[in-house]
Amino acid sequence: MDLLEYQGKQLFRKHGVPVPDGQPAKTVEEAVAAADDLGYPCVIKAQVLIGGRGKAGGIKLASDRREAEQHAGAILGMDIRGFKVHQLYVEVASEIEEEYYAAFVFDRSAKKPMAMFSTRGGVDVEEVAETDPEAMRMVHVDPLIGFQEFHARRLTFEAGIAGDLIRPVGALLASLYEAFVTEDALLVEVNPLLVTKSRDVVALDAKVTIDASALYRHPDLQEFRSEEGMDPQERMARERGLTYVALDGNIGILGNGAGLVMSTLDVVAQAGGEPANFLDAGGGSKAEAITQAVEVILSNENVAAVLFNIFGGITRCDEVARGLLEALDEIDSTVPFVVRLDGTNDKEGRALLAEADLPNLHPESTMLGAAKKVVELAG
Ligand code: GDP
Ligand code: MN
Repeated sequence: MDLLEYQGKQLFRKHGVPVPDGQPAKTVEEAVAAADDLGYPCVIKAQVLIGGRGKAGGIKLASDRREAEQHAGAILGMDIRGFKVHQLYVEVASEIEEEYYAAFVFDRSAKKPMAMFSTRGGVDVEEVAETDPEAMRMVHVDPLIGFQEFHARRLTFEAGIAGDLIRPVGALLASLYEAFVTEDALLVEVNPLLVTKSRDVVALDAKVTIDASALYRHPDLQEFRSEEGMDPQERMARERGLTYVALDGNIGILGNGAGLVMSTLDVVAQAGGEPANFLDAGGGSKAEAITQAVEVILSNENVAAVLFNIFGGITRCDEVARGLLEALDEIDSTVPFVVRLDGTNDKEGRALLAEADLPNLHPESTMLGAAKKVVELAG
């Protein structure tokens, strides 16, 4: 789970990583109120789950209220590389002396966290990593020992920072490691790690990824679960407790059981079609779950035809048929549905579909036959 900058900074603050004062805002009015409260000059920052906001014009300095209003208005609603800005963060402006880079990530091959540090941070850090890899210093941290002063000394000496900065940078790195471990993060990245004109060291940006599998240990982080940047169908599916992954094609897919859905995707691809999604309705799906799944599939405008591939084990095919008919009754769609029901109560299920006699329902008895049919119908 990726966090927005202001959420990441909230965690930083909690673990003692110094960050400038700031307040989130969702409207121009809120942003102006926050700016008045924080004082001028301040920075208005777009909150989106993608980097490079500065270069895209999503970060602007405001020296008075008029500018704060103007920038907030311009940035809200802006599109930053496919991410629409719904939120802002207003922050006290910092005076930049140096821009460093610091991060903790997991090095999976070493099975250890790895600290990264460079004096050449800022908006072009990727380029530095390519042209001058020596400028990025790294050190592994034994998780049983944790991040120690010697780690910090090695990183900062090797990177060659000024003597007066070794302590504050080391302290920031130690707090950052604390945040990384305590919050079950997969990544904490600070770029830039700022040295101000008054030689204070602060995190000016925050990129934090929390291990989603560890979220149950952090009920306080649940509120950060951002809907931003999420595919609208995926959001809808999640609200309904369905396992759904959006894909690029035009054939909606529903099956029960992840394995069956996977092979359905393969067979559809083999028949020359492009699946629009992966949707596993799960074992023992009741009619209502099927209705909800159909709603999710059809909410994707690209879907030209749908394939239902159900193998009844615990799932009863008549329940699936009932759910599908209810959904079609409610949604009143003309999108063609190819339905293959096999297994428990398949006869009853097929009978229900035949009885309904809908023009856009196409029963098929084999998986390959169903795949070919749906590809044909999707055009
Ligand atoms: P990113 O572009 O998405 O990585 O956003 P950052 O938060 O890292 O900001 C990008 C750049 O904007 C920074 O590297 C700074 O150069 C500049 N910037 C951000 N905040 C301030 C600030 O308070 N004062 C000044 N002078 N520059 C800032
Ligand atoms: Mn940045």
